[in-house]
Amino acid sequence: MSLAAVGIGSNLGDRFANLVAAVVGLGAESLLAGVSSVYETAPVGGPEQGPFLNAVVIIETARPAAALLQSMLTIERARDRKRLVRWGPRSLDLDLLIFGTEAIDLPGLTVPHPRLLERRFVVEPLLEVWPEVALPDGTLVAAVKVEGADPLGVYPFPAVSAPPKGGGSGVSR
Ligand code: AMP
Repeated sequence: MSLAAVGIGSNLGDRFANLVAAVVGLGAESLLAGVSSVYETAPVGGPEQGPFLNAVVIIETARPAAALLQSMLTIERARDRKRLVRWGPRSLDLDLLIFGTEAIDLPGLTVPHPRLLERRFVVEPLLEVWPEVALPDGTLVAAVKVEGADPLGVYPFPAVSAPPKGGGSGVSR
């Protein structure tokens, strides 16, 4: 089994619902080991676009990284992800950040994710759920200084099945 970290992000459509769909999709094939808070972040690069919601999901999987990536792309497509403009707005983006202690350099798959340490909106949620995470060369991610703007907001991850508003047992009196 490998412990893997997947970054999820959305800035198009129902952003919270897109993140929930990513977690449900990942949980359908792997064991969910952790889900970070949701970080709202201003877009970096690309055309003018709305703010992103970002989070990190930790999973335990028996599958190889290439198979996991294929599932991730299927989860993106199910939320109507289109690749129109590089770094443009997107309904759902999944990035394989870390896969156990493996360094992978295949056509179409580089792990650790090449821009992992450039993005505070990835590193912060990652450390929240996996504080001791290390790169394949042993470097602790927590020891790396990452530049970037403060998040616009940090929210609890939306519950997949929320209790009814007002709570209670559902019995009316
Ligand atoms: P994008 O969704 O625009 O960030 O790009 C996704 C493409 O990047 C996919 O088709 C993958 O083949 C490729 N890719 C390479 N390394 C990774 C990675 N670590 N995580 C996700 N996608 C990756």
